[in-house]
Amino acid sequence: MNETLITIVITVLLILVTVIPYVRKFQKKENKAREKFKKMKISGLDEAMTMHPHIDLVQCIGCGVCVRACPEGDVLGLIEGKATLIHGAKCVGHGLCAEACPVGGIELMMAKPGRSADLPIIDENFESTVKGMFIVGELGGMGLIKNAISQGKKVIEHISKLPPASRDDMVDVAIIGAGPSGLTAGLTAHEKNIRYIIVEQGDIGGTILQYPRAKIVMTNPVELPIWGKLKFTEASKEQLLELWNNIIEKVQLKIETNEKVSNILSANNEFVLTTTTKQITARYVVLALGRRGTPRKLGVPGEERSKVTYRLIDAATHHDENILVVGGGDSAIEAAIGLASQNNNKVTLSYRKNEFSRIKERNRTHIDDFISRKKITILFNSEVKEIREDTVLLSTQNGELEIKNSYVYIFAGGELPNEFLKKIGIQMHTQVA
Ligand SMILES: Cc1cc2nc3c(=O)[nH]c(=O)nc-3n(C[C@H](O)[C@H](O)[C@H](O)COP(=O)(O)OP(=O)(O)OC[C@H]3O[C@@H](n4cnc5c(N)ncnc54)[C@H](O)[C@@H]3O)c2cc1C
Repeated sequence: MNETLITIVITVLLILVTVIPYVRKFQKKENKAREKFKKMKISGLDEAMTMHPHIDLVQCIGCGVCVRACPEGDVLGLIEGKATLIHGAKCVGHGLCAEACPVGGIELMMAKPGRSADLPIIDENFESTVKGMFIVGELGGMGLIKNAISQGKKVIEHISKLPPASRDDMVDVAIIGAGPSGLTAGLTAHEKNIRYIIVEQGDIGGTILQYPRAKIVMTNPVELPIWGKLKFTEASKEQLLELWNNIIEKVQLKIETNEKVSNILSANNEFVLTTTTKQITARYVVLALGRRGTPRKLGVPGEERSKVTYRLIDAATHHDENILVVGGGDSAIEAAIGLASQNNNKVTLSYRKNEFSRIKERNRTHIDDFISRKKITILFNSEVKEIREDTVLLSTQNGELEIKNSYVYIFAGGELPNEFLKKIGIQMHTQVA
């Protein structure tokens, strides 16, 4: 009898010794996730801006595989035993979480209207509601480099079967955007001897240029036209850009950079594109614009420095830094709050007007709180005059002011890709997460 009792006591003790630390560790992680979620909600960073995971809570078994699969870090967390999107703004939509989920409980969806909004209507050949105008890559709602590459190739394979341009002074296809989808479309056109031009508003590379982290993950190996298989599934941003530059040089790809396409008109089976410096006539157009849009620039000296950005992807990458946020809308305020919530960042918000107008009530309350706690310095009636290597020069009511600076975030509005699509007559449908 005694022996049985001892065995039971030992078994119970053993269970407690192994289970209690596990439960504690689990609770600690859950509390951390809950805290982070609360913080993200305050700064509006809980909501996704692009493709993001939608978790089916009925299917989710709370195993946490998706949380660990995400290379971005703490985008997902486990709360009440279920996977939860806690830092949506940091999600880049590569869907590694969905691939890793053992029960298929994660689907990728676009962001809510107002964050990212509607998707264009396209058919199985990527043709939009404007005949002869095609949409590929992230603009069509598909994230990931491998999808952009695959669609860039397929769209030109389809166009190569259509009647070519009727005149010598026009190209068969004008490709807008030199991200992975536009570059692959150009390579395929080159391979198929189609007359083409790629037009890019900035530099080649697309969204890749904006990555705050070094590593780029390809969920599957990809095959590029002319070049062949890319041997890596992981690379640094610099390696990928070097590869694109090598390909462009070797193939002599026809690209015009720093040429923004501002309008496209169509008539008689022809498209006339207006770019920064000229007009281009094409039989077909491939829109490979991505979803970042065209941010409005300040037009001040030094704005080309790499420390200047027009979108905040991950506030957590900044520690102990002097950061200037420019703008007075919700995006600027949310960014300033997000950055000021991180360890020891010194955040200054510069706005050209004397007060914020038309901002969300939630943001007004939070920014007032951050200003009163001296977590954010606010400079109303100020304008950036010059961005220097370690400082920024501002004009203020009290004269010129030079402040220490390591990063500048500018939120001065601009054109969203959907505004451009609507302007050129493309119809949209809505997909809401
Ligand atoms: C931070 C971050 C990390 C990511 N990490 C990964 C990853 O690890 N693996 C992965 O597979 N995917 C990742 N992605 C997603 C991937 O980068 C995108 O899905 C992919 O770049 C989309 O390619 P795209 O060619 O459709 O568009 P983009 O790469 O966005 O390129 C669009 C191009 O069009 C240009 N353009 C726009 N408007 C105009 C205009 N009017 N005139 C001329 N040019 C114009 C833009 O300047 C841009 O260069 C990440 C995304 C982000 C933001």
